[in-house]
Amino acid sequence: MAALPQQPIVPARQAVARLRSLWQRWFLWVLLALLVMVLLGTVVWLAGRHEADQVQAALDRDTSDAVAELRGGLQRNAQSLNALMTDTRGRVRWPEDEATALLRAHREWVRLEWRDPQLQLRAAADSPYRVRLFDEATREASRSDIALACAAASKLGGAAYSPSHYVPVGSGTGVEVMEICLPSEAGDYLIASYAMRETLIELVGPSLRRGQEVAFAEPDGTRLATVGAPRRGGNRIFTSQQLIDLPGVTLMLRVDGWRAEPDLFPNLLTGLVTGVSIALISVLILLARDTRRRLRAERELADTLAFRKAMEDSVITGLRARDLQGRITYANPAFCAMVGFSLDELIGRPDAPYWPTELVHEYQQRQTLRLAGGMPPREGFESVYMRKNGTRFPVLIFEAPLLNAQRVQTGWMSAFIDVSEQRRVEELSRASQERLQASARLATVGEMASLLSHELTQPLAAIASYATGSLNLLDGEPDGAPAELAMALRRIGEQAERAGQVIRSVHDFVRRRDRTREAVSPRALIDAVLPLVQLQARKLGVRIDIVLERDLPQVLCDRTLVEQVLLNLARNAMQAMDVAGIDERVLLIRAARGGGSNSSSVDSAGEARRWLEFSVADIGSGISDEVAKRLFTPFFTTRSDGMGLGLSLCRTVVEQHGGALLFEPNRPRGTIFRFTLLAAVPTAPLPLVTESTSP
Ligand code: ADP
Repeated sequence: MAALPQQPIVPARQAVARLRSLWQRWFLWVLLALLVMVLLGTVVWLAGRHEADQVQAALDRDTSDAVAELRGGLQRNAQSLNALMTDTRGRVRWPEDEATALLRAHREWVRLEWRDPQLQLRAAADSPYRVRLFDEATREASRSDIALACAAASKLGGAAYSPSHYVPVGSGTGVEVMEICLPSEAGDYLIASYAMRETLIELVGPSLRRGQEVAFAEPDGTRLATVGAPRRGGNRIFTSQQLIDLPGVTLMLRVDGWRAEPDLFPNLLTGLVTGVSIALISVLILLARDTRRRLRAERELADTLAFRKAMEDSVITGLRARDLQGRITYANPAFCAMVGFSLDELIGRPDAPYWPTELVHEYQQRQTLRLAGGMPPREGFESVYMRKNGTRFPVLIFEAPLLNAQRVQTGWMSAFIDVSEQRRVEELSRASQERLQASARLATVGEMASLLSHELTQPLAAIASYATGSLNLLDGEPDGAPAELAMALRRIGEQAERAGQVIRSVHDFVRRRDRTREAVSPRALIDAVLPLVQLQARKLGVRIDIVLERDLPQVLCDRTLVEQVLLNLARNAMQAMDVAGIDERVLLIRAARGGGSNSSSVDSAGEARRWLEFSVADIGSGISDEVAKRLFTPFFTTRSDGMGLGLSLCRTVVEQHGGALLFEPNRPRGTIFRFTLLAAVPTAPLPLVTESTSP
């Protein structure tokens, strides 16, 4: 139960890990996108601001120009007024027609007045361009402004201006008016009333640009008089204000300008930057998409690679790639396991450490042929490789050209199958086939032996009878027969008898009848075969040494068959010494206690004492490994006249007696064959008796 709450942790952890990897992967992209956006935003903003600054600067310039023009115009007007009021000799005058002409020339003036030092009106002229603005009543309302201007004028000793004031015209409209007062030396004043709007039209108007509005304004922004294009909705407004310091009054000139273009794309520069920004963002988006596609492809590629790798690692077929120079560029684990070398020991090597040393030349030729473009057989070919520990093993090789993505050959790819097991099974089946054939032939031999023994019994019995008969006849001879003849006849009889016994034994052996086992002394067994062995020994110049342990017990055996075994081993030994280069040929026949049914199972001295061991040693040619493998196989022989049945029969006989027939190399040369037989009664070991018979 305790494990249950942990269950959801694993998916949660996986989700967290996935989120983290997703974040790590996208973090830089998001950061880059943000930075680009910020950069672009800043550039667009700066471009906009730069342009706004430019427009503002131009407007400020225009305003300064307008102020200068206004100031100049006002000054020129003041001079004209001065000229009107004073004649060339400096006297004050009021030329009516000149005043009218001036008013005609200056549309900005509404009225000219000549007033005495108490500001009482002496004369006045009105602008011909408009209906009379002032009557006595309205003019009286302006009196304070006039007084202010004239006070300033007399204080300054020159022209001075009054603050502007509103003169209603009727029906809710009116005109903003400003007075200028010029003092004369006589104390009189010349007063001109400026209509503010007309002043702007006349003095500033010509230099006014399209899309600009110029106005006299109060410090709080209230417009007193305005001239210029009315503002169109939705456009951005730029404003510039400058003060005009005039004697007696300070005016504010305000110029408004507006842009016809929309604010977001104020000009080409900003438009260009914005366009580039959009392109950049589009590229970023495309790049992000491309990256996503690439990541997906990478993931798929990694999956495929992992799958391939798992496949290559799990197959039992060895895989190896070589480049066009014959260097190993790749080998899978199965190949490394097959040859016993690690990947590091193989990669990059131009030679192959797994080539058997004796075949390197042949394999090199094969490789040269392959590198020269020779195509390998499609069905593969068999070869022998060497493991790191030096053992050889057969492999089946399939080779094919290695092509890259452009279908260009970059090397050779080979697949290897270790066929040792297959060969072993084939060898086993071949051996068992051979054994079957041998058994069949043995059966035939057995039949023949049985037939022969049957057929030979009669003639042998006849020979024995004739020998006995002849001896009887010789016994009957009065002057006695030669002793040698009698001896020879006796020998003939004995050998015939022996031949009969051999035939009977073989017959029994073949028929697998229970044979009579008897207790025989080892000496008797050896003595029985000695005459026949000596016959051959004499012929081949072999000395026979017989070594018998003292007081050996008797052995329980079918004596005829065991004698045959001894005879056979002695013959083989003498034949093995029938080669040149041996100084003294010696055949050693030995009988002693010890040994066992097979040596590994003998573990106690008591057990050992139950056994007798016979050995036949020679100093002949010895037995090679190749021969040793098949030594006891029926019909195996290295002699042209051999039957190859001797050793096979010997082993069968010994094993049927419960013993074992073994062989080992004799030092310094030759072979020792040993076989064991069960003793009739166990006895204690005693010293050896040695004897020797010379050829
Ligand atoms: P055969 O004597 O008819 O050849 P065997 O079965 O007795 O048949 O011997 C088989 C083979 O074993 C011989 O051909 C010989 O090559 C080899 N052989 C047997 N005994 C010896 C030995 N003492 N020294 C060397 N080789 C031997």
